[in-house]
Amino acid sequence: MILLDGKKTAQTLKEEIKQAVTSITDKGKRPPHLAAVLVGNDGASLTYVGSKVRACDYVGFESTLIQLEASTTEAELLKHIEDLNKNPELDGYIVQLPLPKHIDEEKILLAIDPAKDVDGFHPANFGRMALEMEAFIPATPFGIIELLERYQIETSGKHCVVVGRSHIVGRPISILMSQKGLAGNATVTVAHSRTKNLNTLTKEADIIVMALGIPEYLTAPMVKEGAVIIDVGITRVPDSTHPKGYVIKGDVAYEEVASKASAITPVPGGVGPMTIAMLLKNTLLAYHRNH
Ligand code: NDP
Repeated sequence: MILLDGKKTAQTLKEEIKQAVTSITDKGKRPPHLAAVLVGNDGASLTYVGSKVRACDYVGFESTLIQLEASTTEAELLKHIEDLNKNPELDGYIVQLPLPKHIDEEKILLAIDPAKDVDGFHPANFGRMALEMEAFIPATPFGIIELLERYQIETSGKHCVVVGRSHIVGRPISILMSQKGLAGNATVTVAHSRTKNLNTLTKEADIIVMALGIPEYLTAPMVKEGAVIIDVGITRVPDSTHPKGYVIKGDVAYEEVASKASAITPVPGGVGPMTIAMLLKNTLLAYHRNH
């Protein structure tokens, strides 16, 4: 069984990016610059943004954290977006989701300049990705593709079942894996909450991507011998024995599924670290595209 080690692969990627930054700054140019906008103080969002800022520091990017009160109005946030779009010293930025309920997320995403949309959530980027044009690919599916490529997992002609059809994970990974090219050419089935007989589908799959957010949903009887398993799920499950009061669980019952799989991503240490590394990669791409 191959452990698809996202932590290790993300570290390799970060070293590569760090080198690229050094070669930019050695020429006397400014380093790539990423900004993150955080509205409110949701615990998980603070953790995610904190890791992104730390990753920027590590590779030598400049980073700016714009932390706004939960009471920030939609108009105020739009003004910040306008300023970020206009800032020539900024290559890319992200608006950490979810936003407070009184702010229309769609309106905010549409206001982001697609050339700075390193999360790849703007319809212009999503459309370009679907048309196999140059685009910013959302970091999580981009990270899965990178992991499959680096571990040379054969996807061509394989049957891949993606469980989940969200705009940030399930839908884009299903598009990417069915496209021509590396980590593509798979025959993809997209499953969701209305799918009937999910077990029958997963049992026939060569590759399973779990992105639904239900801890340990995929169990050994649902998987065929030798399948490749990608676990995107991250759920905080309360656990009083743990100092933090919770543990992180993926969508896969890891131990029992790993014993049948030919390759599997762990949680934590699989897709999660890859997501942050690919955000850095997108920022570096943005820097080069904007210069
Ligand atoms: P969403 O809640 O947006 O989507 C979940 C999807 O799962 C939906 O399409 C839903 O179907 C489907 N689903 C729900 N229940 C079932 C079921 N019983 N059977 C089959 N399908 C089901 O989640 P996200 O895509 O945003 O995230 C999924 C998981 O991945 C979460 O745990 C999240 O925390 C994690 N995540 C991890 C990242 C990382 O970096 N590793 C990044 C982003 C997310 P329907 O459309 O019908 O409602």
